[in-house]
Amino acid sequence: MDRAGIYIHIPFCRARCSYCDFATGTYEGALAEQYVFALVREVGVFVGPTETLEVDTIFFGGGTPSLLSPAQLGRILEAIRRRFRITRGAEVTMEMNPGTVTPEGLREFRRLGVNRASFGAQTFDDRELARLGRTHTAGDARCTFVDLHDAGFSNVSFDLIAGLPEQTLAAWSHNLDEALALRPVHLSLYLLEVHTGTPLADQIKRGMWREPDADLAAEMYSLMVERTRHAGYRQYEISNFCRPGYEARHNTKYWTGAPYYGFGCSSHSFDGTGARWSNERDTKRYVEMIEAGESPIVERVELDARAMSAEAIFLGLRLLERGVNLAEHRARFGADVRQEHGDDLERFTDAGLIELRGDVLRLTQSGALLSNEVFAAFV
Ligand code: SF4
Repeated sequence: MDRAGIYIHIPFCRARCSYCDFATGTYEGALAEQYVFALVREVGVFVGPTETLEVDTIFFGGGTPSLLSPAQLGRILEAIRRRFRITRGAEVTMEMNPGTVTPEGLREFRRLGVNRASFGAQTFDDRELARLGRTHTAGDARCTFVDLHDAGFSNVSFDLIAGLPEQTLAAWSHNLDEALALRPVHLSLYLLEVHTGTPLADQIKRGMWREPDADLAAEMYSLMVERTRHAGYRQYEISNFCRPGYEARHNTKYWTGAPYYGFGCSSHSFDGTGARWSNERDTKRYVEMIEAGESPIVERVELDARAMSAEAIFLGLRLLERGVNLAEHRARFGADVRQEHGDDLERFTDAGLIELRGDVLRLTQSGALLSNEVFAAFV
């Protein structure tokens, strides 16, 4: 069994961004304090299979975890250390937003054991940031990057979003230049998705911005693949690029079927053998449940062999270099992909979306762009 990862959800932000549909709300000091108490309690009573109580990754996601005080972060880490065995050299990631942390705060986070920063730059264009409702400027992003470096963070990842309202290919190209000039060791580059019910979806409906153009988004994707490769990054996953040795170890667990345990509202867990469960999404309700001594789990699913096999294929295909080894897949799940999906394999190979070399099935670059179409065939 692979070692497990731990995900901690921090559902607070300075303000809501217009495109966001995550479980997060505006920061309230008193609620944040109650929430940290609840988290510590949830971690403390966790019962899991003994062999996976050893963990080698911890990920603070959100929301904006960097709004926590170092004392609050320390209490959560202490609770994790009491309940789990953290391996030496474990990856401890914190999502941060520019302008939400001071140099002293960063030094404290580093001292407490955080050794990787996932940094929400999103774009280096101030007008685009304002359109998204972000509370920081491109200058803040550059300053926080310098502060991270000064605080001893050498493992820093940037998030950037392409296909923003009114964004041109030239503007996206400029964004890539700005990000690459800072030489982060990891980049997560996403295409904007407009989620129903978000202010952005409403603004597009009212005609404030045009709907993002799919062909332009495809050009942006190709440009980022080309530009990052030229700059020495490996595209190890559809949306993730890194310098050798800096893959996101925590996120890789999601794509390889390793166990992970989520704590906090809206967090998800997987035991690595077929059980998935998720917590109450609403922050206040989550706190109430924990304070009342109830379990915050609101959904539990047991995947059968067929569902496990399908998941292993579409998650495995996200890892562009590694792909899915069909012989290993058959040994593990008893599923013969060549036999069960012969027509799909032929169709997608002819369309240039996948390639099968020996036993290893991989997405091509064109397939990475149309990955949802490919994945749908296997589910
Ligand atoms: S900072 Fe991130 S989590 Fe918070 S509202 Fe913006 S996009 Fe959502």
